[in-house]
Amino acid sequence: MIGVVAATAGGRSAAGALAAAWPGEVRSFTDLKASEALREAWRTCDSIVSFLAVGATVRVLAPLLEHKTTDPAVVCVDESMRFAVAVLGGHHGANLLARRLTGVLGCEPVVTTASDRTGVAPLDSYGADLGFTVHNPDLLAHVGAAVLSGEPVALEGADGWPLPALPPNVRVPPSAQDEREEQDEPGTGILVTDGAEIACMCHEGWFGNRLVYRPPSLVVGVGSARGVTAAEAGELIDLTLAGAGLAPESVRCLATVDLKADEEGILKAAEERGWEVVTFPAEVLAEVEVPNPSEVVRAEVGTPSVAEAAALHAARSFGRSAELVAPKHKSANATAAVARLAPKGRLSIVGLGPGARDLLTPRAHEALRRSSVVVGLDQYVDQVRDLLRPGTRIVESGLGQEEERARTAVEEAEAGRAVALIGSGDAGVYAMASPALEFASDRVEVEGVPGITAAVAASGLLGAPLGHDHAYISLSDLHTPWEIIERRVRAAAEGDFAVCFYNPRSRARDWQLPAALEILAAHRPPDTPVGLVRNASRPDETVTVTTLGGLDPEAVDMLTVVLVGSSRSRTVAGRFVTPRGYRWA
Ligand code: SAH
Repeated sequence: MIGVVAATAGGRSAAGALAAAWPGEVRSFTDLKASEALREAWRTCDSIVSFLAVGATVRVLAPLLEHKTTDPAVVCVDESMRFAVAVLGGHHGANLLARRLTGVLGCEPVVTTASDRTGVAPLDSYGADLGFTVHNPDLLAHVGAAVLSGEPVALEGADGWPLPALPPNVRVPPSAQDEREEQDEPGTGILVTDGAEIACMCHEGWFGNRLVYRPPSLVVGVGSARGVTAAEAGELIDLTLAGAGLAPESVRCLATVDLKADEEGILKAAEERGWEVVTFPAEVLAEVEVPNPSEVVRAEVGTPSVAEAAALHAARSFGRSAELVAPKHKSANATAAVARLAPKGRLSIVGLGPGARDLLTPRAHEALRRSSVVVGLDQYVDQVRDLLRPGTRIVESGLGQEEERARTAVEEAEAGRAVALIGSGDAGVYAMASPALEFASDRVEVEGVPGITAAVAASGLLGAPLGHDHAYISLSDLHTPWEIIERRVRAAAEGDFAVCFYNPRSRARDWQLPAALEILAAHRPPDTPVGLVRNASRPDETVTVTTLGGLDPEAVDMLTVVLVGSSRSRTVAGRFVTPRGYRWA
């Protein structure tokens, strides 16, 4: 039951609105004196909406406070219904209630509890996109609180997995050795491991107070004689894992040879354990080097190894590399082996859009929050610094050091990290995607996150300059000889393309723009519309529509794009429009 307390006419009418919106849930205490009403609501309700000031509410309730898990949740709403402040019991209903009130009263929720505010990666879904599962969820609250309150939390086993950043108090211990000397039982920590827990004499389990994540790091390879039972195959798999001290929760799939794709015992054993089955042709497995090949098996199936080769081959296909962690074990009719993969790191190439926050895509936002390393030009890092999770490592560099930035990003990703290489607009348009991908090997996962490029941002401001075929041309001759640029401008002129010039003019490069415009002017009339957009979607944005004949190159700098119409472009009511077709005159 939600108790509502109000002392003013406004408060009472809002209380009525709540009772109407949430029938059966609301009890009004508006007839009593405010302090009595609050005390009564505190005694009889699960939560309270108080239309009194925060101070007044706290003064009355302070002597009644007992424990956050048993006290009612309290939200205060101000007289003008602008804010719903979650005052007491944020995680026990108040944050939620503050947000629900938004829907009815139109006020803004004010939430001050740490995990909702700090942007720290939530532990219950940490690594979930990589396939991590939590082994001991009962520790989530304890370890989560330690992470948020800044206590030292040891992070072990996460190296090599492209995980989001955790705040700086979550640290890799200096070395396992020091850790043992300091304390004989591990303290509060986070452990990523595919190792089975080994109970020991001194305490209940080796994991102690550590929140354990199971990474999807293992592949079980299986071979068998025709007709093997699920019981036999399953038991052998379980024994092989247990013998090597490996956790079944970390098994990503079961691998075997194509010939066994319909082997019921194997399929059933996998299904019982919730694993997928992948199969490979014998010729492929025959190429895999294994410690225990068998000529007998080669004669029968065409590969000297099934279990070991399939485990290794599958693990390699998912990861950066793989090793055999349990060599071939045999039962009467089956063989099993286990391989562990080293995961691939991730390079996200993220376009941040032209500047304004609402032109940054939700996917770009998500990619930034999934990264632990962000590489980019300092001014672009500034554009998104507030979006990064606490603990994100930032590698900034100045203008010009493109190749170095690209190499750094790739190296960090190849070391197994989650890296965001950022750029303005779209990161693939005159930007970092190409230099980075010239270096990146196939040992890294690459994700391109598109951004709104300057041409498109400018187009929206000007009208519809790109309504028909158009060309982007960069006038920077730093990396491209002028002859090539000139040839392209001429081709665009002859083809009657609308043109968007990037990098149009700098202090040191001032003659290129007039030269390019002259080429265009030879093929289209002097009243052809030209749009100049400087700092599109940034605070000092300027938008100018002029003509080929009237353009003043002095008005153009490196923060500008210049859009030139085709012979058909027109200005309509001050807007730059390129028609979608050519009407025959
Ligand atoms: N990757 C960027 C382009 C980088 S090249 C993108 O997709 O937008 C740099 C040039 O882009 C600048 O010289 C300028 O011509 C243009 N530019 C980038 N952002 C701009 C903005 N917000 N407004 C106007 N022009 C911009």
